[in-house]
Amino acid sequence: MFTRLYLHIPFCQRKCDYCSFVSMQANQHSIEDYVVTLLEEMRLVRATYGAGDGIDSIYFGGGTPSQLSPHQIARLLEQSSLLFKWKARPEITLEANPGTVDAQRLADFHAAGINRLSLGVQSFDNQLLSRLGRIHTEQQVVNTVSAARMAGFDNLGIDLIHSLPGQTLDMWRSDLARALQCETDHISIYGLTIEEGTPFALRYTEESPLLADEDLSAAMFETADTLLTAAGYEHYEIANYARHGFRSRHNSGYWKRDGYLGLGIAAHSLLRDETCDVRFSTTSDLDEYTTAINGGILPHHDTISLSREEAMAEFMYLGLRLKEGIEFREFESNFGCSPLKIYAATFDLLSRAGLLTVDKTSIKLTLRGMLLSNQVFSRFLP
Ligand code: SF4
Repeated sequence: MFTRLYLHIPFCQRKCDYCSFVSMQANQHSIEDYVVTLLEEMRLVRATYGAGDGIDSIYFGGGTPSQLSPHQIARLLEQSSLLFKWKARPEITLEANPGTVDAQRLADFHAAGINRLSLGVQSFDNQLLSRLGRIHTEQQVVNTVSAARMAGFDNLGIDLIHSLPGQTLDMWRSDLARALQCETDHISIYGLTIEEGTPFALRYTEESPLLADEDLSAAMFETADTLLTAAGYEHYEIANYARHGFRSRHNSGYWKRDGYLGLGIAAHSLLRDETCDVRFSTTSDLDEYTTAINGGILPHHDTISLSREEAMAEFMYLGLRLKEGIEFREFESNFGCSPLKIYAATFDLLSRAGLLTVDKTSIKLTLRGMLLSNQVFSRFLP
Protein backbone atom coordinates (compact mmCIF):
# COMPACT_ATOMS: atom_id res chain seq x y z
CA MET A 1 0.00 0.00 0.00
CA PHE A 2 2.82 2.44 0.83
CA THR A 3 6.60 2.56 1.01
CA ARG A 4 7.11 6.20 1.95
CA LEU A 5 6.14 8.37 4.89
CA TYR A 6 5.77 12.14 4.82
CA LEU A 7 5.46 14.14 8.05
CA HIS A 8 4.28 17.73 7.77
CA ILE A 9 5.67 20.09 10.40
CA PRO A 10 3.72 23.34 9.98
CA PHE A 11 5.85 25.70 12.07
CA CYS A 12 8.11 28.54 10.97
CA GLN A 13 9.97 31.22 12.86
CA ARG A 14 8.18 33.81 10.73
CA LYS A 15 6.06 33.66 7.59
CA CYS A 16 7.87 34.47 4.35
CA ASP A 17 6.12 36.99 2.13
CA TYR A 18 5.66 34.67 -0.87
CA CYS A 19 4.69 31.52 1.00
CA SER A 20 1.34 29.76 0.67
CA PHE A 21 2.35 26.54 2.43
CA VAL A 22 0.42 25.55 5.51
CA SER A 23 2.70 26.96 8.19
CA MET A 24 2.41 29.15 11.27
CA GLN A 25 4.47 30.62 14.07
CA ALA A 26 4.57 28.48 17.19
CA ASN A 27 6.04 28.27 20.62
CA GLN A 28 7.76 25.22 22.07
CA HIS A 29 4.60 24.26 23.94
CA SER A 30 2.46 24.07 20.81
CA ILE A 31 5.22 22.21 18.94
CA GLU A 32 5.33 19.54 21.65
CA ASP A 33 1.52 19.21 21.53
CA TYR A 34 1.76 18.70 17.79
CA VAL A 35 4.43 16.03 18.14
CA VAL A 36 2.28 14.16 20.67
CA THR A 37 -0.66 14.31 18.23
CA LEU A 38 1.53 13.09 15.37
CA LEU A 39 2.61 10.12 17.49
CA GLU A 40 -1.04 9.31 18.12
CA GLU A 41 -1.87 9.72 14.43
CA MET A 42 0.88 7.21 13.62
CA ARG A 43 -0.81 4.65 15.88
CA LEU A 44 -4.16 5.31 14.21
CA VAL A 45 -2.86 4.99 10.64
CA ARG A 46 -0.97 1.81 11.59
CA ALA A 47 -4.23 0.31 12.90
CA THR A 48 -6.10 1.45 9.77
CA TYR A 49 -3.64 0.89 6.92
CA GLY A 50 -1.13 -1.60 8.31
CA ALA A 51 2.66 -1.53 8.56
CA GLY A 52 3.41 -0.65 4.93
CA ASP A 53 5.39 -2.56 2.34
CA GLY A 54 8.90 -1.76 3.52
CA ILE A 55 9.45 1.93 4.23
CA ASP A 56 12.16 3.18 1.87
CA SER A 57 12.04 6.90 2.73
CA ILE A 58 10.77 9.27 5.39
CA TYR A 59 10.52 12.99 4.74
CA PHE A 60 10.05 15.74 7.33
CA GLY A 61 8.68 18.67 5.31
CA GLY A 62 7.05 21.93 6.21
CA GLY A 63 6.99 24.53 7.39
CA THR A 64 10.38 24.34 9.03
CA PRO A 65 10.83 20.84 10.48
CA SER A 66 14.14 21.89 12.03
CA GLN A 67 11.98 23.83 14.53
CA LEU A 68 11.46 20.44 16.18
CA SER A 69 14.16 19.43 18.63
CA PRO A 70 16.44 16.51 17.74
CA HIS A 71 14.82 14.61 20.62
CA GLN A 72 11.35 15.16 19.12
CA ILE A 73 12.60 13.93 15.73
CA ALA A 74 14.14 10.88 17.43
CA ARG A 75 10.82 10.06 19.15
CA LEU A 76 8.93 10.28 15.85
CA LEU A 77 11.47 8.08 14.10
CA GLU A 78 11.56 5.54 16.88
CA GLN A 79 7.78 5.23 16.93
CA SER A 80 7.69 4.94 13.16
CA SER A 81 10.27 2.15 13.19
CA LEU A 82 8.21 0.27 15.77
CA LEU A 83 4.90 0.67 13.94
CA PHE A 84 5.97 0.38 10.31
CA LYS A 85 8.17 -2.09 8.47
CA TRP A 86 11.36 -0.24 7.51
CA LYS A 87 13.73 -1.27 4.75
CA ALA A 88 17.37 -1.73 5.76
CA ARG A 89 18.50 1.90 5.41
CA PRO A 90 15.69 4.26 4.54
CA GLU A 91 16.49 7.73 3.26
CA ILE A 92 15.41 10.11 6.05
CA THR A 93 15.26 13.76 5.02
CA LEU A 94 14.84 16.83 7.19
CA GLU A 95 14.07 20.21 5.66
CA ALA A 96 15.94 22.90 7.55
CA ASN A 97 16.36 26.64 7.19
CA PRO A 98 19.72 28.35 7.49
CA GLY A 99 19.57 30.52 10.57
CA THR A 100 17.55 27.96 12.56
CA VAL A 101 20.30 25.40 13.09
CA ASP A 102 23.87 25.45 14.39
CA ALA A 103 26.60 22.81 14.28
CA GLN A 104 25.54 21.13 17.54
CA ARG A 105 21.88 20.97 16.57
CA LEU A 106 22.78 19.51 13.16
CA ALA A 107 25.00 16.88 14.80
CA ASP A 108 22.10 16.00 17.11
CA PHE A 109 19.69 15.67 14.16
CA HIS A 110 22.21 13.37 12.50
CA ALA A 111 22.51 11.31 15.66
CA ALA A 112 18.70 11.14 15.84
CA GLY A 113 18.66 9.32 12.49
CA ILE A 114 18.39 12.04 9.83
CA ASN A 115 20.67 11.06 6.93
CA ARG A 116 19.70 13.67 4.34
CA LEU A 117 19.40 17.41 4.87
CA SER A 118 17.57 19.79 2.55
CA LEU A 119 18.29 23.47 3.15
CA GLY A 120 15.83 26.18 2.08
CA VAL A 121 18.39 28.66 0.74
CA GLN A 122 16.34 30.31 -2.06
CA SER A 123 19.00 32.94 -2.83
CA PHE A 124 22.49 34.08 -1.85
CA ASP A 125 21.61 37.74 -2.42
CA ASN A 126 20.93 39.45 0.91
CA GLN A 127 18.70 42.07 -0.67
CA LEU A 128 16.55 39.45 -2.39
CA LEU A 129 16.44 37.34 0.77
CA SER A 130 15.12 40.27 2.71
CA ARG A 131 12.58 41.03 -0.04
CA LEU A 132 11.34 37.43 0.27
CA GLY A 133 11.00 37.84 4.03
CA ARG A 134 13.57 35.11 4.71
CA ILE A 135 15.23 35.20 8.11
CA HIS A 136 18.73 34.22 6.97
CA THR A 137 21.66 35.86 5.19
CA GLU A 138 24.15 34.59 2.63
CA GLN A 139 26.77 34.14 5.37
CA GLN A 140 24.39 31.98 7.38
CA VAL A 141 23.88 29.75 4.34
CA VAL A 142 27.62 29.24 3.96
CA ASN A 143 28.00 28.57 7.68
CA THR A 144 25.10 26.11 7.72
CA VAL A 145 26.43 24.16 4.72
CA SER A 146 29.83 23.75 6.33
CA ALA A 147 28.28 22.93 9.73
CA ALA A 148 26.13 20.26 8.05
CA ARG A 149 29.18 18.62 6.51
CA MET A 150 31.01 18.73 9.85
CA ALA A 151 27.95 17.20 11.52
CA GLY A 152 28.31 14.18 9.23
CA PHE A 153 25.73 14.87 6.51
CA ASP A 154 27.03 13.24 3.35
CA ASN A 155 23.74 13.80 1.52
CA LEU A 156 23.03 17.50 1.44
CA GLY A 157 20.75 19.53 -0.79
CA ILE A 158 19.71 23.15 -1.22
CA ASP A 159 16.67 24.82 -2.79
CA LEU A 160 16.91 27.96 -4.92
CA ILE A 161 14.21 30.17 -6.47
CA HIS A 162 14.58 32.18 -9.66
CA SER A 163 12.47 34.90 -11.26
CA LEU A 164 12.44 36.80 -7.98
CA PRO A 165 11.22 40.42 -8.04
CA GLY A 166 14.03 42.60 -9.35
CA GLN A 167 16.34 39.66 -10.11
CA THR A 168 18.33 39.97 -13.34
CA LEU A 169 19.91 37.15 -15.32
CA ASP A 170 23.33 38.17 -14.00
CA MET A 171 22.08 38.05 -10.43
CA TRP A 172 20.72 34.54 -11.09
CA ARG A 173 24.04 33.46 -12.60
CA SER A 174 25.74 34.69 -9.47
CA ASP A 175 23.30 32.70 -7.27
CA LEU A 176 24.06 29.58 -9.29
CA ALA A 177 27.81 30.18 -8.99
CA ARG A 178 27.49 30.56 -5.21
CA ALA A 179 25.40 27.38 -5.08
CA LEU A 180 28.10 25.48 -6.97
CA GLN A 181 30.73 26.74 -4.54
CA CYS A 182 28.74 25.09 -1.74
CA GLU A 183 29.36 21.70 -3.42
CA THR A 184 26.12 20.18 -2.22
CA ASP A 185 24.90 16.84 -3.55
CA HIS A 186 21.50 18.03 -4.69
CA ILE A 187 20.07 21.31 -5.94
CA SER A 188 16.36 22.02 -6.46
CA ILE A 189 15.38 24.99 -8.58
CA TYR A 190 11.95 26.56 -8.70
CA GLY A 191 10.58 29.58 -10.51
CA LEU A 192 8.71 32.00 -8.25
CA THR A 193 4.95 31.84 -8.52
CA ILE A 194 2.81 34.54 -6.96
CA GLU A 195 0.29 32.76 -4.76
CA GLU A 196 -3.10 34.19 -3.86
CA GLY A 197 -3.47 35.42 -0.30
CA THR A 198 0.24 36.11 0.23
CA PRO A 199 1.79 39.56 0.79
CA PHE A 200 3.49 39.09 -2.60
CA ALA A 201 0.10 38.87 -4.31
CA LEU A 202 -0.73 42.34 -2.97
CA ARG A 203 2.71 43.74 -3.74
CA TYR A 204 3.28 42.36 -7.24
CA THR A 205 0.48 42.43 -9.77
CA GLU A 206 0.99 40.81 -13.16
CA GLU A 207 2.04 44.15 -14.64
CA SER A 208 4.71 44.77 -12.03
CA PRO A 209 7.95 45.74 -13.77
CA LEU A 210 9.87 43.96 -11.03
CA LEU A 211 8.54 40.55 -12.03
CA ALA A 212 10.36 38.45 -14.62
CA ASP A 213 8.55 38.07 -17.92
CA GLU A 214 8.28 34.71 -19.70
CA ASP A 215 11.49 35.21 -21.68
CA LEU A 216 13.57 36.05 -18.63
CA SER A 217 12.12 33.11 -16.68
CA ALA A 218 12.91 30.79 -19.58
CA ALA A 219 16.45 32.16 -19.78
CA MET A 220 16.90 31.53 -16.06
CA PHE A 221 15.63 27.95 -16.37
CA GLU A 222 17.99 27.29 -19.29
CA THR A 223 20.94 28.96 -17.59
CA ALA A 224 20.50 26.68 -14.58
CA ASP A 225 20.46 23.65 -16.88
CA THR A 226 23.60 24.80 -18.69
CA LEU A 227 25.66 25.75 -15.63
CA LEU A 228 24.68 22.90 -13.34
CA THR A 229 25.00 20.13 -15.90
CA ALA A 230 28.39 21.55 -16.96
CA ALA A 231 29.40 21.27 -13.29
CA GLY A 232 28.52 17.56 -13.26
CA TYR A 233 25.00 17.62 -11.88
CA GLU A 234 22.40 15.47 -13.58
CA HIS A 235 19.21 17.38 -14.46
CA TYR A 236 17.14 14.37 -13.46
CA GLU A 237 13.76 16.01 -12.98
CA ILE A 238 12.24 19.29 -14.17
CA ALA A 239 13.20 21.14 -10.98
CA ASN A 240 15.93 18.90 -9.62
CA TYR A 241 19.64 18.33 -10.11
CA ALA A 242 21.82 15.74 -8.39
CA ARG A 243 25.33 14.45 -8.29
CA HIS A 244 25.63 10.82 -9.32
CA GLY A 245 23.89 8.62 -6.73
CA PHE A 246 22.16 11.52 -4.96
CA ARG A 247 18.73 11.69 -6.55
CA SER A 248 16.05 12.16 -3.90
CA ARG A 249 14.63 8.69 -3.30
CA HIS A 250 11.57 10.12 -1.62
CA ASN A 251 10.59 12.56 -4.34
CA SER A 252 11.49 10.06 -7.07
CA GLY A 253 8.89 7.83 -5.43
CA TYR A 254 6.24 10.53 -5.95
CA TRP A 255 7.04 10.74 -9.65
CA LYS A 256 6.95 6.97 -10.00
CA ARG A 257 3.67 6.82 -8.11
CA ASP A 258 4.90 4.73 -5.21
CA GLY A 259 2.35 4.61 -2.41
CA TYR A 260 3.00 7.11 0.37
CA LEU A 261 1.32 7.99 3.61
CA GLY A 262 1.22 11.61 4.76
CA LEU A 263 0.99 12.47 8.45
CA GLY A 264 0.26 15.82 10.04
CA ILE A 265 -1.94 18.67 8.85
CA ALA A 266 -2.28 19.29 5.11
CA ALA A 267 -0.37 16.12 4.26
CA HIS A 268 -1.33 14.20 1.13
CA SER A 269 -1.39 10.44 0.67
CA LEU A 270 -1.53 7.94 -2.16
CA LEU A 271 -2.30 4.37 -1.19
CA ARG A 272 -2.02 1.72 -3.86
CA ASP A 273 -2.97 -1.90 -4.11
CA GLU A 274 -3.71 -4.26 -6.98
CA THR A 275 -7.32 -3.19 -7.28
CA CYS A 276 -7.32 0.52 -6.64
CA ASP A 277 -5.30 3.72 -6.11
CA VAL A 278 -6.69 6.10 -3.49
CA ARG A 279 -5.63 9.69 -2.83
CA PHE A 280 -6.66 11.75 0.19
CA SER A 281 -5.45 14.70 2.22
CA THR A 282 -5.45 15.46 5.92
CA THR A 283 -7.27 18.55 7.15
CA SER A 284 -5.19 21.70 7.16
CA ASP A 285 -7.02 23.02 10.24
CA LEU A 286 -4.85 22.42 13.31
CA ASP A 287 -7.78 22.44 15.77
CA GLU A 288 -9.81 20.02 13.67
CA TYR A 289 -6.75 17.80 13.33
CA THR A 290 -6.02 17.71 17.06
CA THR A 291 -9.64 17.13 18.08
CA ALA A 292 -10.14 14.35 15.53
CA ILE A 293 -6.92 12.50 16.37
CA ASN A 294 -7.58 12.78 20.13
CA GLY A 295 -11.03 11.30 19.44
CA GLY A 296 -9.51 8.38 17.54
CA ILE A 297 -10.55 9.62 14.09
CA LEU A 298 -8.31 10.28 11.06
CA PRO A 299 -9.38 13.67 9.61
CA HIS A 300 -8.94 12.68 5.96
CA HIS A 301 -10.69 14.70 3.27
CA ASP A 302 -11.03 14.70 -0.50
CA THR A 303 -10.74 10.93 -0.74
CA ILE A 304 -10.68 9.90 -4.40
CA SER A 305 -10.49 6.39 -5.84
CA LEU A 306 -8.76 6.98 -9.14
CA SER A 307 -10.38 5.66 -12.29
CA ARG A 308 -8.15 3.76 -14.72
CA GLU A 309 -8.03 6.83 -16.99
CA GLU A 310 -7.01 9.08 -14.10
CA ALA A 311 -4.31 6.64 -12.98
CA MET A 312 -2.96 6.46 -16.55
CA ALA A 313 -2.91 10.26 -16.83
CA GLU A 314 -1.04 10.53 -13.54
CA PHE A 315 1.43 7.92 -14.68
CA MET A 316 2.12 9.99 -17.77
CA TYR A 317 2.45 13.47 -16.31
CA LEU A 318 4.35 12.40 -13.21
CA GLY A 319 6.68 10.01 -15.07
CA LEU A 320 7.42 12.58 -17.75
CA ARG A 321 8.88 14.86 -15.10
CA LEU A 322 11.89 12.56 -14.93
CA LYS A 323 14.81 12.86 -17.34
CA GLU A 324 14.45 9.28 -18.56
CA GLY A 325 10.74 9.81 -19.22
CA ILE A 326 8.45 6.82 -19.55
CA GLU A 327 9.30 3.38 -20.84
CA PHE A 328 6.40 1.92 -22.75
CA ARG A 329 6.84 -1.49 -21.16
CA GLU A 330 6.43 0.05 -17.68
CA PHE A 331 3.16 1.60 -18.73
CA GLU A 332 2.11 -1.74 -20.25
CA SER A 333 2.92 -3.67 -17.10
CA ASN A 334 0.80 -1.23 -15.07
CA PHE A 335 -2.18 -0.91 -17.39
CA GLY A 336 -2.01 -3.88 -19.76
CA CYS A 337 -1.97 -1.79 -22.92
CA SER A 338 0.45 0.34 -24.91
CA PRO A 339 0.48 4.12 -24.38
CA LEU A 340 1.17 4.39 -28.12
CA LYS A 341 -2.40 3.30 -28.75
CA ILE A 342 -4.00 5.57 -26.18
CA TYR A 343 -1.95 8.72 -26.66
CA ALA A 344 -0.83 8.42 -30.31
CA ALA A 345 -2.37 11.76 -31.37
CA THR A 346 -1.01 13.56 -28.27
CA PHE A 347 2.51 12.17 -28.78
CA ASP A 348 2.40 13.24 -32.39
CA LEU A 349 1.23 16.77 -31.58
CA LEU A 350 3.74 17.30 -28.77
CA SER A 351 6.70 15.85 -30.61
CA ARG A 352 5.97 18.01 -33.66
CA ALA A 353 5.93 21.01 -31.29
CA GLY A 354 9.41 20.03 -30.09
CA LEU A 355 8.22 19.26 -26.56
CA LEU A 356 8.63 15.46 -26.54
CA THR A 357 10.92 12.91 -28.12
CA VAL A 358 9.46 9.52 -28.89
CA ASP A 359 11.52 6.46 -29.82
CA LYS A 360 10.70 2.77 -30.06
CA THR A 361 10.77 2.14 -26.32
CA SER A 362 10.11 5.38 -24.49
CA ILE A 363 9.07 9.03 -24.52
CA LYS A 364 10.70 11.90 -22.70
CA LEU A 365 10.46 15.66 -22.48
CA THR A 366 12.90 17.87 -24.37
CA LEU A 367 14.42 20.78 -22.43
CA ARG A 368 11.77 23.00 -24.00
CA GLY A 369 9.14 20.46 -22.95
CA MET A 370 10.45 20.71 -19.38
CA LEU A 371 10.16 24.48 -19.55
CA LEU A 372 6.60 24.26 -20.84
CA SER A 373 5.70 21.17 -18.85
CA ASN A 374 2.31 22.42 -17.69
CA GLN A 375 1.20 22.74 -21.29
CA VAL A 376 2.41 19.20 -21.98
CA PHE A 377 0.77 17.69 -18.91
CA SER A 378 -2.58 19.29 -19.60
CA ARG A 379 -2.72 17.21 -22.80
CA PHE A 380 -2.84 13.99 -20.79
CA LEU A 381 -5.71 14.92 -18.48
CA PRO A 382 -8.79 12.73 -18.99
S1 SF4 B 1 10.31 28.99 5.75
FE1 SF4 B 1 9.34 27.91 4.02
S2 SF4 B 1 7.40 27.11 4.81
FE2 SF4 B 1 8.16 28.67 6.28
S3 SF4 B 1 7.12 30.53 5.68
FE3 SF4 B 1 9.13 30.52 4.65
S4 SF4 B 1 8.72 29.55 2.66
FE4 SF4 B 1 6.97 29.12 3.97
